[in-house]
Amino acid sequence: MNNITFAIIKPDAVNNNFTGKIYNHILKSGFKVLSAKLIKMSKHQAQNFYLIHNDKPFYNELTDFMSSGKCMVLALKKDNAVNEWRKTIGATNPDDAREGTIRKLYANSLAENAVHGSDSSENAKKEIGFFFSEIELI
Ligand code: UDP
Ligand code: MG
Repeated sequence: MNNITFAIIKPDAVNNNFTGKIYNHILKSGFKVLSAKLIKMSKHQAQNFYLIHNDKPFYNELTDFMSSGKCMVLALKKDNAVNEWRKTIGATNPDDAREGTIRKLYANSLAENAVHGSDSSENAKKEIGFFFSEIELI
């Protein structure tokens, strides 16, 4: 299944009241929202979600940030969803992101970069399973 990906509207974007604009950008870009909800991660949950980065120098700062406030988590559907969503959000560092991408439009820094996107279909499935139960995936 390569038509599903997982997205997070991160705490910086929710705090800056960009949730609606980003949600609209998602729909305008041709994604169907299978499920979406507001959540707030504990530090422990953020550490588990980003376990693949636990050896990186930014792990502590990243998990502090991701547990600092509300996020919107979304399961998204589109053909070639993982790559399409990565293209829609732009480069990790908003300074390198292309014009018109979500990170270019709504992110301020490398750390607080507005949105998350899965890097593979396999990880998308795992990440969706982290936040959603089967009955929520409509
Ligand atoms: N990040 C950071 N400093 C870095 C690299 C990444 O703070 O030098 C943060 C940033 O929020 C990024 C997240 O860690 O979105 C995960 O990093 P990754 O390399 O997986 O980037 P992404 O897949 O989110 O583009
Ligand atoms: Mg990544």
